[in-house]
Amino acid sequence: MLPGTTAAAAVRRATVVPEWRTALAALRLHSRVRWDESLKRLNTWRIGGVADCVVDVQSLDDLAQLLPFIQKQRVPWTVIGKGSNLLVPDEGWRGLVLHLGKGFKDWVPLEAPQTVRVGAALADVTFAQRCIEPGWGGMEFLVGVPGTIGGAVAMNAGAHGGEIVDFLREVYWLDMGGNLRHAPAEAIEFHYRFSGLNACNGVLVTHATFELRESQPPEVRKQVDACLRFREEKQPRNQPNCGSVFKNPEGDHAARLIEASGLKGAVRGGMQISSLHANFIVNRGEGTAADALALIEQAQERVFQDHGIRLEPEVQHLKPLPFETLVPPPASSSPVS
Ligand SMILES: Cc1cc2nc3c(=O)[nH]c(=O)nc-3n(C[C@H](O)[C@H](O)[C@H](O)COP(=O)(O)OP(=O)(O)OC[C@H]3O[C@@H](n4cnc5c(N)ncnc54)[C@H](O)[C@@H]3O)c2cc1C
Repeated sequence: MLPGTTAAAAVRRATVVPEWRTALAALRLHSRVRWDESLKRLNTWRIGGVADCVVDVQSLDDLAQLLPFIQKQRVPWTVIGKGSNLLVPDEGWRGLVLHLGKGFKDWVPLEAPQTVRVGAALADVTFAQRCIEPGWGGMEFLVGVPGTIGGAVAMNAGAHGGEIVDFLREVYWLDMGGNLRHAPAEAIEFHYRFSGLNACNGVLVTHATFELRESQPPEVRKQVDACLRFREEKQPRNQPNCGSVFKNPEGDHAARLIEASGLKGAVRGGMQISSLHANFIVNRGEGTAADALALIEQAQERVFQDHGIRLEPEVQHLKPLPFETLVPPPASSSPVS
């Protein structure tokens, strides 16, 4: 039996076989399909239960088969990058998890200066490191963000005053019909930790093109090192976490408010509001999603009582995604032939 699987759950999984499981096996996929897979290794909090199925999607062709399949079969589905901003439920996931794999890690410098097209599964850290040698500046902050480029575009990730959209030139995505589309960044809505191109809208980012600033390798390296030093000093590095749990309210910091409410170090079960940084919740070993949620609610209630501010979570709940693409393609988007 899988770790974390109760006997009752194993029996249920063995006896209730949804029709889509058989139908999925009939697709001509080249991707690895993992059944009854623990999601603990697919998120940085190291929490959550078992998924019916995880597909490590290896190619655009496979993805273009999977999305229409999901739509037609009405399979509950979701997508995980590196799970570095995700709250995965203890009950796990009855359905399919898409996890972009090797075929989406490409790094293709283009002819235009300081311009590169990259795959959505490329690690943000790798992106930042690859910019050092050519001396491309601006996105050094990504070295401290342990997600993927797809997740960074979906979340408009940012740090140290910069964010993804500042350097994003073009995005490629698949809609639920399996059509590959692309559009310039300015045709898409982006604001603080929000992008119109999130799987929550039934779009899956596959690639993105960035134009960086001309700089020199030693300068880029210096910035990368400074970002890493900042993380080491200010954030809990050795305990599983999901980064900032709450968005910063306008003109203030969630960490300051939580600390002022006396919650730094507060514990629920196996989870704790970090004693180093109050906007981080760390897993002390046996933490659960229920523990994390209890701390999230406690922080929201106390901060509201004490400061009249409703903290909005930055962390995303793993949830069923729509079967239709909810955002109309921007006027300037076009299918890729
Ligand atoms: C130690 C630590 C430090 C962090 N620091 C920062 C920081 O400085 N700044 C910051 O912004 N964030 C930070 N984060 C949060 C997190 O790393 C970012 O939000 C990151 O961009 C999430 O990427 P991911 O690949 O892990 O996405 P996931 O967590 O797997 O998913 C996040 C969301 O993006 C969607 N998504 C993922 N991939 C795709 C795709 N290909 N297409 C469409 N939607 C997709 C998912 O559905 C989900 O809604 C930090 C996290 C940790 C653990």
